[in-house]
Amino acid sequence: MPAKTPDFAEVYADLYGQPPPERLTTANSDADILRSARGFVDGFDFTMQTQVGCPGGCLFCYVPSGRMLTPSALRGEYGEAWGFEVRAKRDVLGKLARHLARGTLADKVIYWSGVTDPYAAPPAETRAIWSLLSETEPALRPRRLIVQTRYRPDRDAALMAAYAASSTPSDGAPAVVVSYSIGTDREDLIRAWERATPSFAQRMRGITALREAGLWVVPTLSPFGLWDDLVGTLARFKALAIPYITALFFKKDTNSANTPSRFISYLERAYPLLLDRRWQAGRLAEMRAIYGQQRVLVHKEAFASLAAPQHVAARPN
Ligand code: SF4
Repeated sequence: MPAKTPDFAEVYADLYGQPPPERLTTANSDADILRSARGFVDGFDFTMQTQVGCPGGCLFCYVPSGRMLTPSALRGEYGEAWGFEVRAKRDVLGKLARHLARGTLADKVIYWSGVTDPYAAPPAETRAIWSLLSETEPALRPRRLIVQTRYRPDRDAALMAAYAASSTPSDGAPAVVVSYSIGTDREDLIRAWERATPSFAQRMRGITALREAGLWVVPTLSPFGLWDDLVGTLARFKALAIPYITALFFKKDTNSANTPSRFISYLERAYPLLLDRRWQAGRLAEMRAIYGQQRVLVHKEAFASLAAPQHVAARPN
């Protein structure tokens, strides 16, 4: 009988030598919601965050290993505090309204968000953001909003679709793109590595609902874990007419956004396959055999594609 996968508290204790904090701490922040994305990745103008910190508490999250990405109090010395404190930004709607009215966001590409999950924010807040965007005159709207999430953005599917339908981006491509993180179909691994995010089944329901609303979705197989049925999952994406997918494998010893070193050490002990370049190349070949050679993008190219996904969708199968 295969060994039982440890739960989140056990993996956390393995990483940090102590039990996880018992509760989530909440506070407020006066920080702005926009940051220039210069030097981040080509094609993005701004990143947007409505909170500081993220309640997802994913043990592989790269954010706490980047000194500039989040305040030290929210990550702890080794990343042990990450996922247990969230500071809601004050006056999110007022700040967004002022940026829109000034024209700061007109025809810009916004990545929402990268250092906290936008759909870990309260439903009233995300609803109000889409409503405000829809009330904004078209010339002042962003060219594109890229929603990066592993939560449930489909709660706003109708609002997003209404906004997208009433927008005419200057490049003729979609006004809204949802980059939906789904790194494995194994619920035991999700429960072991992610403290408070939706299950695989819930995320698949989310992707389906977004597609049924006519929205652009790019499934992001990130970080790429073990799959029970990778082929079957990709077939489901194809059936939803999703034009392409992206994947990010676990990496060590690179200069870009890195998995925390303690999580890498854990993978080396528990799941060395996930770090094996030959195994990764095999999975990539498997995905490309199903989805097409040019429609499975990895790492930096995958990320950059989100700013102008129509170029990938136009590639031959
Ligand atoms: S949901 Fe995203 S931002 Fe939040 S902890 Fe998980 S990986 Fe990091």
